[in-house]
Amino acid sequence: MEIKKIMVLGAGQMGGGIAQVCAQAGYLVVLRDINDQFVQRGLKVIEKNLLRGVEKGRMTAEEKDAVMGRITPTLTLDAGAEADVVIEAIIEDALLKKETFEALDNICPSHTILASNTSSLPITQIAAATKRPQKVIGMHFMNPVPVMKLVEVIRGIATADETYQVIEDLSKKLDKVPVEVNDFPGFVSNRILLPMINEAVYCLMEGVGSVDGIDTVMKLGMNHPMGPLALADLIGLDTCLAIMEVLYDGFKDSKYRPCPLLRKYVAAGWLGRKSGRGFYTYD
Ligand code: NAD
Repeated sequence: MEIKKIMVLGAGQMGGGIAQVCAQAGYLVVLRDINDQFVQRGLKVIEKNLLRGVEKGRMTAEEKDAVMGRITPTLTLDAGAEADVVIEAIIEDALLKKETFEALDNICPSHTILASNTSSLPITQIAAATKRPQKVIGMHFMNPVPVMKLVEVIRGIATADETYQVIEDLSKKLDKVPVEVNDFPGFVSNRILLPMINEAVYCLMEGVGSVDGIDTVMKLGMNHPMGPLALADLIGLDTCLAIMEVLYDGFKDSKYRPCPLLRKYVAAGWLGRKSGRGFYTYD
């Protein structure tokens, strides 16, 4: 199957990055968010990233303009009618994702593959909202998308081999390394990463260490490039909480219970970098 046009839903941290790497790989991209302010903010971040590439001599100003020229902003799902692949990167809300996939199923042609960048929600469940579960798949990019090499490619129970192959090939064309995983809560990446982050929040809540102390232990002691609390701020504390809820709900095992302090930060609107305050404060 030849892919020409890719629609990306959500112009936030992940959707913007996904739109950027798709446009850099030469695909025509339609980037959708729910209002103009959010789409424009997404486009601005992409332009800033590309500009940094120009300043560092990784691309010319003409190449940057050509990449930006391949991205068309939109506020509706209508462009799905011309998309070969849709990559959904809206907020981590199961109901919203299912409604979105149901709507896409009615708009997109029968050959269109519907991929979700969900961090943890069951692909099988999202696929069941459509009449094309064989064409629904997980395409889980890492943050920041232009920098991180991994894409977890998640097969739902009904995902066809052909769909898997197209998405594996697309991931490689985006200069990523795809890894095939099966549809279990949190997949591989977040089943391992998020309990570690959650435990770091427990350490903070119980006074075992300070924010800086906990992060320094993990950086210098375990050679992690970032401490777990700084990483939680980068991921977004709302997203971290949503993933812990999916693990807890999916396995019904108390080892996945979200830390009450994480809940408190999210309730306060302290979501990490994107809101200017999380475990750290940001300008
Ligand atoms: P974000 O809050 O930065 O962006 C989400 C965007 O989706 C917002 O701009 C919001 O306005 C938009 N949106 C909401 N409803 C929409 C709709 N119906 N249609 C189109 N856009 C809509 O969140 P994010 O960090 O980019 O996360 C997006 C998805 O990617 C989530 O499913 C998340 O779990 C997943 N993910 C996040 C990370 C991470 O590190 N943040 C990593 C991998 C995967």
